[in-house]
Amino acid sequence: MAKKNTQQDAKWLDKKALKDCIIHHLHSTLGTDENKASKKAWWNATCAAVNELVFERATRTQKTHYQQDTRAVHYFSLEFLMGRLLKNNLTNLQVDQVVSDALAELGLDINELAEEEPDMALGNGGLGRLAACFVDSLATLGYPAIGYGIHYEHGLFTQDFHHGRQVERPDSWREYGNPWEICRPESIQEIPLYGYVETRYDENGNISKEWHPGRIIKGVPWDIPVVGYGAKTVNILRLWESRASDFFNWDVFNAGGYLDAQVENVQAETISKVLYPNDNTDAGKELRLMQQYFFCACSIKDIVRRYKRAHGDDWSEFTKQIVIQLNDTHPAIAIPELMRILVDRANMQWDKAWDICQQVFAYTNHTLLPEALEKWSVRLFEKVLPRHLEIIYEINRRFLEDVVEKVYPGNDAVKRKLSIIEEGHQKMVRMGNLSVIASFKVNGVAEIHSKLVKSDLFPEFDKIWPNKLTNVTNGVTPRRWLKSCNPLLSDLINKHVDEDWPVNLYKLKRLADKADDAEFQQAFLAIKYQNKVKLAQVIEQETGIKVDPEAMFDIQIKRLHEYKRQQLNLIHIMALYKRLLENPNYEMPKRVFIFGAKAAPGYHMAKEIIYAINRVAEKINQDSRIKDKLKVVFLPNYRVSLAEKMIPAADVSEQISLAGKEASGTGNMKLALNGAITIGTLDGANIEIAEEAGEDNVVIFGLDVDQVKAKRAHGYNPWDHYYSNNELKCVLDWFESDFFTPGKPGELAEIKRSLLDYGDSYLTLADFESYSDAHKKLDKLFIDRARWAKMAIINTASMGKFNSDRSIQDYVDRIWHLTPCTIK
Ligand SMILES: *Cc1c(COP(=O)(O)O)cnc(C)c1O
Repeated sequence: MAKKNTQQDAKWLDKKALKDCIIHHLHSTLGTDENKASKKAWWNATCAAVNELVFERATRTQKTHYQQDTRAVHYFSLEFLMGRLLKNNLTNLQVDQVVSDALAELGLDINELAEEEPDMALGNGGLGRLAACFVDSLATLGYPAIGYGIHYEHGLFTQDFHHGRQVERPDSWREYGNPWEICRPESIQEIPLYGYVETRYDENGNISKEWHPGRIIKGVPWDIPVVGYGAKTVNILRLWESRASDFFNWDVFNAGGYLDAQVENVQAETISKVLYPNDNTDAGKELRLMQQYFFCACSIKDIVRRYKRAHGDDWSEFTKQIVIQLNDTHPAIAIPELMRILVDRANMQWDKAWDICQQVFAYTNHTLLPEALEKWSVRLFEKVLPRHLEIIYEINRRFLEDVVEKVYPGNDAVKRKLSIIEEGHQKMVRMGNLSVIASFKVNGVAEIHSKLVKSDLFPEFDKIWPNKLTNVTNGVTPRRWLKSCNPLLSDLINKHVDEDWPVNLYKLKRLADKADDAEFQQAFLAIKYQNKVKLAQVIEQETGIKVDPEAMFDIQIKRLHEYKRQQLNLIHIMALYKRLLENPNYEMPKRVFIFGAKAAPGYHMAKEIIYAINRVAEKINQDSRIKDKLKVVFLPNYRVSLAEKMIPAADVSEQISLAGKEASGTGNMKLALNGAITIGTLDGANIEIAEEAGEDNVVIFGLDVDQVKAKRAHGYNPWDHYYSNNELKCVLDWFESDFFTPGKPGELAEIKRSLLDYGDSYLTLADFESYSDAHKKLDKLFIDRARWAKMAIINTASMGKFNSDRSIQDYVDRIWHLTPCTIK
């Protein structure tokens, strides 16, 4: 809190004034009273009270940025996985205690009220959550920044299980209004789509292009304040909602009655209706291209409008003021859009415009998976964005003739590979190549990933521009992912470390001094136990399954994907079950395996894996022969708010992707920060986590990147493992029986087929034995409670690097070059 409080701020130090404020909002904002108010109404009234602080500071921040004409980063992302905002805002405003006390006097529990808030799930997984952690850190560090994205009416679907199978229901997060957002009709934008391009010549014979769009869509901005920790800076997340425009293009209509039926059918509102539920796959759908263009065009117009307010038609300061970060290639269409604005609208020479673009855009690559690298068919592009296709061709022509030719003279193979246009039966626009060519920096998201971006994905680009490709290792905000989600551990930390650790996470290192201290170990383990008791309650509520908080809680939470290898976890659980059936005295601590994962609705094998886990869980959980030594829980509807309950209770963190496939991972960081021991492959940020925590404090298994390459080069054959490991063979054969699916033999057989007949694309069987050995190692470590406590403490103590504040500072130093701005 600021020392000199305005009158506004004064009540935030005073329970009684705060109570009055909440009740005032209950009456005048919610139109109800204390006697009949629902919990939802109380939650709303509390949010309204908090917003008095939030919006006042947001306004102050925006005013200061405007007055000082600050350089700002514009974070373009198709996804922002924000989760709930009430507790986060209270934490960052540092009024959580006073609000909690005030509510208690009203007979209300802050935690119960917080449960009333629907998650703001405008993202799929790691990429969207990263964007949310980054806007938190940008505000915390006082950097001028704005997040730009889509105001989806429906976020990521909610997940139910029906007889073990995933069922999706639409997510209606703002059906009954959302207290955190403000509509800004004064900043509405109009966005063209479809139509044709006219070529014109002026009296001097100079060529110019005019796009005659077939349709105009309105973009309505909704602003969500992003409160930095300490609440000095409150930045804005601006999300665009699409609406039908009253505008009708007679020009196009008269030019030949040209409005094809499909164009007419597209309802403008559908553009921002729903988030595409694919994680790490490209669906290549027309509506998705329109979503990408819609939000980029709105955002670029918004940026240009704001720039012109300060600089008029003088473009000379543009690159000093503006940097745009592309979160993956999803917003890459912003590149030809800015070119179009500069060349067609501002009548700028191509070279000058291109120069500006190359100083404005930077691109973050999030994956090497070929199925996730975005490509759009030239045919679709021409239909939806005809002028942008022309601009892309011109960017490409100049790149190949002026740039590639100099470094690779006459080398058509390299030109074919680097071209933005992929030739072939269906010509395609490669958004990754466009992004690298137009950006001044390209970063991967963990050391190994960035190395592979250079060596395997874009080696020729690296040769052309040796300083363009770089690394910024991902991070997570410790405000949400430790302070707010794990209050018990936070209080313990506060007793031993300066209380500013949430903005200075390296200070946790101090805890390592206590790693051997028996009393501290006890305290640490006691907190883990209490968190496990709480999660056990959630598990029983959600699934009816009773689990023992004394057992080892082994957690795998992340999107369901074959590369993340939930199937490896599953076959290992089946192997444990088999060992217990064969030998009821099989030596192992009690274990609970807990999953949380959504599968993309169109990803068949992912859904089969969910089904298999649920069927195996059902059988194991009701088998009295194994005396509760093994339990398997699949919590439905994994999302940010559920992650916040699971992570503090984890003993073990499963990070078992095939080496080379997980760009970074951020779930790995959240779990380790809360004292979970990682069982993981040498992939993504696991490598850096192992470096920071020390090899003795993580359990590494499996093939590394080079061994994977070697194995594939020699021709990987999963049957070798099937025939050489009898336990593995028996487990895989179970999938074909009706052991887990009584009366329905073969219901799970596709999983076996994918691991054998279809070639086991993610080398699951190759890593099984090593994985099984790693779990045996965990068993031994877990029984030695002091040893385990020490490892867990060292993990928490060593996670300073994985603070998203550090990531943001790396972006600022290496890419954005921003200056923090002090707000009053
Ligand atoms: C952190 C997070 C992720 C990313 O998890 P990974 O294990 O890195 O894939 C996905 N979903 C949610 C809800 C998260 O909070």
